[in-house]
Amino acid sequence: LHARRQLAAESIFSRMSRLAAVHGAVNLGQGFPAGSPPEFLLEAARSALGTADQYTAPLGSPALRQALADDLAVNADDVVITCGATEALHVLADALYGAGDEVLMFEPVFDVYRPQAALSGAAPVLVPMTLDMSSGSGQWTPDLDALEALVTPRTRALLLNSPHNPTGHVFTRAELERVAALARRHDLWLISDEVYDELYYGERPLSLRTLAPERTFTVGSAGKRLEATGWRVGWIVTPPGLAPEVAGLHQWATFCAPAPLQAAVAAALPVARQHGLYGQLRQAYGDRMRLLAAGLRDLGLAVQEPGGTYFLTALAPGLDPFALVEHGGVAVIPGSAFYAEGAAPAGLIRLAFCKPESEIERALQRLGAFL
Ligand code: GLN
Repeated sequence: LHARRQLAAESIFSRMSRLAAVHGAVNLGQGFPAGSPPEFLLEAARSALGTADQYTAPLGSPALRQALADDLAVNADDVVITCGATEALHVLADALYGAGDEVLMFEPVFDVYRPQAALSGAAPVLVPMTLDMSSGSGQWTPDLDALEALVTPRTRALLLNSPHNPTGHVFTRAELERVAALARRHDLWLISDEVYDELYYGERPLSLRTLAPERTFTVGSAGKRLEATGWRVGWIVTPPGLAPEVAGLHQWATFCAPAPLQAAVAAALPVARQHGLYGQLRQAYGDRMRLLAAGLRDLGLAVQEPGGTYFLTALAPGLDPFALVEHGGVAVIPGSAFYAEGAAPAGLIRLAFCKPESEIERALQRLGAFL
């Protein structure tokens, strides 16, 4: 354990949620919805208990694999069910790279990517996303020239997140086409983390798999889609023929995801479509995003409005998020958590808006008093 002490440090998300609880702060840090999951999901879980209580195959329950195949327009043979997207990414790190390999990922970088690469022995290589402030509020753009320049003979894979956490950037078709072409040219695996695929406010995100199906592993999350982040049901769509091997590694970690929750998600996925759940969430979260963005602008902050996710970034020069949670009663995530040491833009913070409007308003008042 000693050798891994650095990797075992408490994550910024756990730390901020803990501090928010200790100090009674409004928690706009860790991204999880404040409300309950939809009743049809809970009902499906209740009826699964007592009927789907034993292991499924490591590939996942046939019903859930088929429900995902229908929902995502993929082949059910290529679907593997995991314990959340986090385990999906962990299994892929195990499967696709090891000591001496390099893995490209965009910076700001979601906090689990670097430790997972390091646990598999590989080196994370950070590709900058630039924050262009010429428009006043700022616009995030992946630096694809830098990406090209950072490929080496050791590069094995590129890990991409669209809509992107923490910036909310939705990769454009042109950006994804360039990524796919680069991956083909250098024979890289692509890991596309699409847990916010249904949470967008402008153009619908394009799935990287559609541009490079032979080399893309897509990761998704029932927790994010169905507002149940603690359920730990996620999935991987593999390139054709690779699901058995991926499931073969997943079996050594957790064997299978919780069977009754797999059954409930299988039943709920088509209902979510029929009820228009994702459109309702886009509407509700879009309203809260605009509320938070307008309030932050009124306080004088530069706000980067996201194309997707339930996060936005803002620049609050001189603000110390640890002082804010302790003395100001608001938890946010410091931008530095998503960067290599010293590389974060000054004053960058990430705020989650998957919270009730009253909480967002209270956070804005407290922030105004603290600044
Ligand atoms: N995805 C969530 C966020 O970005 C939290 C994930 C986690 O705690 N590992 O806030």
